[in-house]
Amino acid sequence: MASHTRLLTGLDGQRYHFDAGVFCLELLLTGGPGPVGEAYEILFGPDDLAEWLLDSRLNDTAPVRREDLDITMADLSHVVQFRNALWHAAEAMAQGKAIEKGHLEVINAAVGEAPRPQIDVVTLRRHWAAPVTGKQIAAMAAREAIDLVGSQRLRQCAGDNCYLLFLDTSRPGKRRWCSMERCGNRNKVREFRSRSGAAS
Ligand SMILES: [Zn+2]
Repeated sequence: MASHTRLLTGLDGQRYHFDAGVFCLELLLTGGPGPVGEAYEILFGPDDLAEWLLDSRLNDTAPVRREDLDITMADLSHVVQFRNALWHAAEAMAQGKAIEKGHLEVINAAVGEAPRPQIDVVTLRRHWAAPVTGKQIAAMAAREAIDLVGSQRLRQCAGDNCYLLFLDTSRPGKRRWCSMERCGNRNKVREFRSRSGAAS
């Protein structure tokens, strides 16, 4: 599984790199339910989702081109509803809690035709079959989400007040932080302070 980092900006303005490990969890970076998710919400119109997809890990399979994306307002509502259910479900999984039935039902209902990668018969270059719709985006993420149920690698960052969810794709499987630049570093500083505090 290829790594794909995105540059995030915390509410405090700090910029850092984050790899969600899988597309469906990357989608949770667009916002979510409740005050935390709403503070990060970026999907207000169809263009917002299209723009966001241009830099997503869909590119790992084939380049995402704006003209190939066809996102309607209904698509956007569908994606947001799916994403919010996935947020609840993924957080429950990462915390070892039971997933609410209603959230699983939304995920099940979103499974459908996913975006189709194609190969140009002459140039052998890959592209996505147009149009890629919002429904297809949710469908792809829903399939991945179903694969994640029961995974021991789905984690929530161990940082204080950090809610980022990721799939740990590292070989040792010991990833704890959203990013070493952010929560990992804060933890190092805290450990250093508590050690030097104990020594003095
Ligand atoms: Zn974090």
